[in-house]
Amino acid sequence: MNNQTSTEPNTTIPMTSAHDGLVQRLTEDIFCYTDKIVNVYFVGNPGKPHEWFLVDCGISTTPDVILTALKTEFGEAHPPKMIVLTHGHFDHVGAAFDLAKHWDVSLYCHELELPFVTGGQDYPKPDPTVEGGMVAKLSGAFPHKAIDLTPFVKPFDSNGSLEGFPEWKWIHTPGHSPGQIALFREKDGALLSADAIITVKQDSLYDVLTQTEDLQGPPRYLTTDWKQAKLSTERLRDLQPEFIGPGHGLPMFGDEFKRHLEQLVQDFDRVAVPDFGKYTEE
Ligand SMILES: [Zn+2]
Ligand SMILES: [Zn+2]
Repeated sequence: MNNQTSTEPNTTIPMTSAHDGLVQRLTEDIFCYTDKIVNVYFVGNPGKPHEWFLVDCGISTTPDVILTALKTEFGEAHPPKMIVLTHGHFDHVGAAFDLAKHWDVSLYCHELELPFVTGGQDYPKPDPTVEGGMVAKLSGAFPHKAIDLTPFVKPFDSNGSLEGFPEWKWIHTPGHSPGQIALFREKDGALLSADAIITVKQDSLYDVLTQTEDLQGPPRYLTTDWKQAKLSTERLRDLQPEFIGPGHGLPMFGDEFKRHLEQLVQDFDRVAVPDFGKYTEE
């Protein structure tokens, strides 16, 4: 296996991380599984068929990675009730089609994300010129073409609910991508923030590899609307979350998290928005 140096899109993921393969339990019913550099979440009771949902599908294009993690952790890879896609970037939809097919379940996403996951529209190209570290510079090779998850993909109910999981709401958090969503549960302040807020500096190769922890705005090289990204961060802060399960990086809890979140909102223009890059100008 030597795809570390290849530059072909779809085969090049020039990195992994210290947490590859790790399953972390955030609460009784929220489990974070790290596939190389990206997190997927098992929410509910994955020990029983259809009593849980999967959030995102990892960067690996084979379904075996997630199925094996489920078997290891819960004895069996029981089918979820549904798969929720926070957005359609390549590092979150790796095995989406094959998992949906394997379990025969629907994939739900925001209606504004549908064109990018039904083959209709490509994402804008990642910006390798953006201010940032090595991963930003390599990002020009990242896949940005629309994938086609027909016939499994469907839009969410517009009222913010998730069928079968009344405690959970999806929250529209555009900016990083037009139809990105986060998931929030008021009962315990659980926030699964996708790429709207992450806890690792995703454009730094060193930080991605070591998963150095720090609250961050969205990954710079793929974020195309910084005004919306800022509003989305404020929207998530206003929910007063107690802890975060991000799309990239480690979960963060308690006062440390709240302090970092408030700081990120206050300093967003300075710390999150890049000083230069092709998506920073109007
Ligand atoms: Zn993304
Ligand atoms: Zn991502």
